[in-house]
Amino acid sequence: MAVTILVVEDEHAIQELIALNLKKAGHIVLCADDAEQARKMINNALPDLVLLDWMLPDISGLEFARKLRREERTKAIPIIMLTARIQESDKIAGLEAGADDYVTKPFSPRELLARIKAVLRRRMPEMSDEIIEVGGLRLDPVTHRVHVAAADEPSRLTEISLGPTEFRLLHFLMAYKERVHTRAQLLDRVWGDHVFIEDRTIDVHIRRLRKILEAVEKENLVQTVRGTGYRFSIEYREESVE
Ligand code: CA
Repeated sequence: MAVTILVVEDEHAIQELIALNLKKAGHIVLCADDAEQARKMINNALPDLVLLDWMLPDISGLEFARKLRREERTKAIPIIMLTARIQESDKIAGLEAGADDYVTKPFSPRELLARIKAVLRRRMPEMSDEIIEVGGLRLDPVTHRVHVAAADEPSRLTEISLGPTEFRLLHFLMAYKERVHTRAQLLDRVWGDHVFIEDRTIDVHIRRLRKILEAVEKENLVQTVRGTGYRFSIEYREESVE
């Protein structure tokens, strides 16, 4: 599970220690010394997670977390607060500002990595390496393979071949099964931030995905929700499939 993590920390020794450990774990690391620099980096490209120190030289990490949560583009970024503060009231303030978790200094690199993993699993299941099985499909994010179980014999698996975009799309839809996603959400989460493609392109990839699934009689899993977007559901709703 390699993700891009933005570390916002003004103490360079701690910043470097965190960066080193995150890189060793296979993550892509960006570092900012204060909120202003972090803001510029976020404007440039959205990270998958922000490690945010509470005490920063310009505005506090707490205030910065609130700002991120208030904006449409940044409100869904997972945030872990780093702090030397240990009072219960501080912890509550951090969580109320929109932080997903809270790590108290000094912390071990192992603890930090475990917290990051837990937050990502909770907030972004499509970032997880775990195999997802739903509706007779079995998707393995590590090997990039999708198998279909035979209706009469679930242990008999047939591999289906998907292009990289269809794979990511299916992974996202399966990770958030039964939920409806707008085209804008799919654009953001599957294609990535700052990618300028038309909504219609999404429909093209959905159609391609359905066509591949049709060959194994699973096309009804990917449903159109009229006027809203798309959903992966094991309950077939005739009116919602176009
Ligand atoms: Ca600090």
